[in-house]
Amino acid sequence: MKVPILIPNIFDYPFTYDSDNLNLKLGDYVKVPFGKSNLVGVVWNDFETKKKKTFLIKKVISKLNIPSLDENTINFFNLFSLYNLVPKGMALKMSFISGNVVEHMDSKNFKKFQTKFKNKVFHLSQEQNKALLQLEKENEKFKVHVLQGTTGSGKTIVYFKVIKNLIKKGRQALIMLPEIGLTKQFEEKFKQFFGFNPAIWHSGITKKNKKIIWNGILTEKIKVVIGARSALFLPFKNLGSIIVDEEHDQSYKQDEGVIYNARDMAILRASFHKIPIYLITAVPSLETFENINSQKYQVTKILNRFKNASLPEYEIIDLNRERLESKTWISKDIIRKVENHLKKNDQILFFLNRRGFAPFVFCKKCLNKYMCPNCSINLVYHKNNQNLLCHYCGFKCNLNRKCAKDGICDLIFSGPGVERIADEIKKKFPKQNQIIFSSDTMNKKNSSEILEKIINNKISILIGTQLISKGFHFPNLNCIVVVDLDLSSHGHDLRGVEKNLQLYHQLSGRAGRTGKPAKVYFQTYNLNKKLILDITNKNPEVFLKKELDIRKKNNLPPFERFVSLIITSTDENKLQKESLKFKNYLQSKLNHLVLGPVNAPIYKIRKNFRTRLLVRGKKTLQLQNSLNISIKNFKFDKGIKLLVDVDPINFN
Ligand SMILES: [Zn+2]
Ligand SMILES: [Zn+2]
Repeated sequence: MKVPILIPNIFDYPFTYDSDNLNLKLGDYVKVPFGKSNLVGVVWNDFETKKKKTFLIKKVISKLNIPSLDENTINFFNLFSLYNLVPKGMALKMSFISGNVVEHMDSKNFKKFQTKFKNKVFHLSQEQNKALLQLEKENEKFKVHVLQGTTGSGKTIVYFKVIKNLIKKGRQALIMLPEIGLTKQFEEKFKQFFGFNPAIWHSGITKKNKKIIWNGILTEKIKVVIGARSALFLPFKNLGSIIVDEEHDQSYKQDEGVIYNARDMAILRASFHKIPIYLITAVPSLETFENINSQKYQVTKILNRFKNASLPEYEIIDLNRERLESKTWISKDIIRKVENHLKKNDQILFFLNRRGFAPFVFCKKCLNKYMCPNCSINLVYHKNNQNLLCHYCGFKCNLNRKCAKDGICDLIFSGPGVERIADEIKKKFPKQNQIIFSSDTMNKKNSSEILEKIINNKISILIGTQLISKGFHFPNLNCIVVVDLDLSSHGHDLRGVEKNLQLYHQLSGRAGRTGKPAKVYFQTYNLNKKLILDITNKNPEVFLKKELDIRKKNNLPPFERFVSLIITSTDENKLQKESLKFKNYLQSKLNHLVLGPVNAPIYKIRKNFRTRLLVRGKKTLQLQNSLNISIKNFKFDKGIKLLVDVDPINFN
């Protein structure tokens, strides 16, 4: 009997093998000879159709003694591959662990995941109860249901209840979170509610843990996974529901390697499994908002905050009115206000979305700006590490640089980062405990200790980057100062304004979570009152509606499909030539608009020069289909790489 076997590698089709007495069926994991070695592959659902030269058909060596890959998952991988223009073998590879599978796992490894529910009762408010009823309606089939609730309104407990009822029916659940590195708080909440451990899945867990979870998911010994994007490729055997928490978060988009949007692909996977998927958010993304409007998605809203806490009040501090002292960034007005908050024992957050001490470094003598040698990006001065760092490629160097004039460069540090604001605060509030909350300080081993201190109000002032907007619950945080409300949407970023809305909404959601009145102050030079009002409006749907109208008028996503083609090479001349050739070729093959090539806004990253093309078309798979065929038939010159980004979010 001939069987198609998909191998986890770069091929877009299964290979044909022979098996006489193994009685293979769809989804079986098998060992097969491939090239000079033996590999694990999966019995796939279609044969390679392209006629090839006849070659020797090899025999399947053995069938592995583990449950087969679910047919729904196979169908999902096939469409994932078509939608994102990723070879099928690569989709399969993402569901393996370093190209392999896990056949045996001692049962003692699964003890802590055993589902034994606690009898603790969690009371829901009337609104939460109503939401629960709606979420559980018709949840035996595919539906996309948005649970929209103000930050701090108790959405998590509602979907925890949904999951609990599913587990009782023997089903599995996947909870996706955008920032998985700091899930300790979430994990604790889970344990308190369920009484057992969830499996935590992200790129940073140990290989041993990965093996345990992989095997446990396939053999149904593990019921719930909390995971980052990559958890979407786990071989669930009996998946009952997917939750995408903070669905609006743009980190669901994977921008490197295999490029895909994990939220959208989760919806695709749920549709194949015929199960409900719940999108959880305070302010939906534009796409989701449009899908609610057109009634493709259901929506349930929770309007009241926990203990009826109100959302913080906003106040704009016009920096044009007060001349700040040189090399300071905090106004006298703010200092007075913060002092008052400190008297009331409120915790304070100064927000600035810039890591390090200063974003620009110049030399007084030669006027050279310090740039990364590998990227067209300026180096950021990190005072705590005493070095200059590239935030793209990680290039580091010290401050001693030979000057083009003579001797060593004499440096000027321009603009503030969080470290510089921290220095200023140390001077202005010398008695207060303070900490920088950024990926430089919080992705370390002791981060859970720091979190503990913040929660217990042992730290009175935080200086934070965007990282802090991601779902943390700090009970005493009642005052937020946005150091520089920068609303300049950068020209190349279609979603600049939407990103700002989400950011400031999430950020203010961190304040006033336990009922005390809270304030958010925006320091700004920007006098675009209308834009500020839109962004700080307590009803964010006003803004979403306006933004959707603009998109519709201009045929922009989510009303049309964009596909970015990013062409890269270390050879600048060759890149320019090939990009133009490729554009002309595509234009002759496609019935779609092809724009470009243009140099990418960040023209060089990691020594690779980059140009971009943009293909626009209707929102059907026809666009991907014809692109797929065209790309396969185009032979790039050596040293040229092509990245395909379907539904791009970043245009850098
Ligand atoms: Zn760099
Ligand atoms: Zn110099």
